[in-house]
Amino acid sequence: DGSAERPFQIALIPGDGIGKEVAPEGVRVVEAAARRHGIHLRFTEIGWASCDHWRAHGTMMPADWKAQLQGMDALFFGAVGWPADVPDHVSLWGSLLQFRREFDQYVNLRPVRLFDGVPCPLAGRQPGDIDYLIVRENTEGEYTNIGGTMWPGTEREVVLQQSVFSRRGTDRVLKYAFELAASRPRHKLTVATKSNGMAVSMPWWDSRADAMAADYPQIAVDKQHIDILSARFVLQPDRFDVVVASNLFGDILSDLGPASVGTIGIAPSANLNPERSFPSLFEPVHGSAPDIHGKGIANPIAMIWSGAMMLDFLTDGTGAGRAAHDDIVRAIEGVLREGPRTPDLGGRASTSELGRAVAERL
Ligand code: ATP
Ligand code: MG
Repeated sequence: DGSAERPFQIALIPGDGIGKEVAPEGVRVVEAAARRHGIHLRFTEIGWASCDHWRAHGTMMPADWKAQLQGMDALFFGAVGWPADVPDHVSLWGSLLQFRREFDQYVNLRPVRLFDGVPCPLAGRQPGDIDYLIVRENTEGEYTNIGGTMWPGTEREVVLQQSVFSRRGTDRVLKYAFELAASRPRHKLTVATKSNGMAVSMPWWDSRADAMAADYPQIAVDKQHIDILSARFVLQPDRFDVVVASNLFGDILSDLGPASVGTIGIAPSANLNPERSFPSLFEPVHGSAPDIHGKGIANPIAMIWSGAMMLDFLTDGTGAGRAAHDDIVRAIEGVLREGPRTPDLGGRASTSELGRAVAERL
């Protein structure tokens, strides 16, 4: 519960590449913020879920990885992947996707926010114009391995790919999104759909959203087709507050959104099991970035902000954890506005200079 007697148990999994460089800065800031608010944490550093482990053992993780994570409250994850040695599907399926699936992390949450001091690729946008949350369904929907090829290799060849939407899987992610929208001042929820084109799954998805909307009369619900919704992310981002989407649509939106607010080096994410039956996982949106690895110039803000989300989630979004989260976000705001800046932000500062600058502002 985060008390001195029972600190939150956090598995620190740096992974590969710049994951190993940004992880210590994440820990530095999270520990400083937690200390100020009387939250006790115990980090256990884990070297597997990495391509180093793959090189030594031929697998990304030990066979008993789940047992080794027994009792953990959260996973604080850097980045995984080293495509020069290990194909991306091997590194990803052997680690991160195992966590998401085995720990039933069915909500993928990504805040998208434009900060003062970060150049926006969308002309004329000010901080405050872009500030929304994407909730992606993370376990079912369009991403399945159900399907196959009929008459392969012939002129008649036909390929089928099934989507799977369960009532349980859909309602639980919608519920999370409605609750999130209810907790925010604007009380606004956009539901991504494509009921004009996907004639079975999406009208049903809409009907589940409509049914739930009846329980939340205070929330303005707006169903939008994914095509126009994507266009509005670019043209009218100020329309959005909370956006909920199926696995495929959410995947696309959650790259588009962060790209529209500047560097990928600041975008955080959370893979949540909201019921807390299993640990949730907090990680930067970016990958291991082999191109800048070893230079000490990776921007640690995505990792730090993910750590802030972890503190908020661990304490149920109330009290100490929320305050620690807000302190970290304010410190990030200050550093983005006034520097120092890593090269992706147009400066020359190092990863640790940025991490220390955020910690000092706390
Ligand atoms: P993934 O495989 O995880 O989808 P990727 O390997 O294609 O992602 P990244 O590793 O995220 O991509 O890198 C994409 C680009 O963004 C690279 O040029 C990388 O240097 C840059 N980049 C990523 N993260 C950061 C960061 N924290 N700071 C600065 N630049 C970054
Ligand atoms: Mg990669």
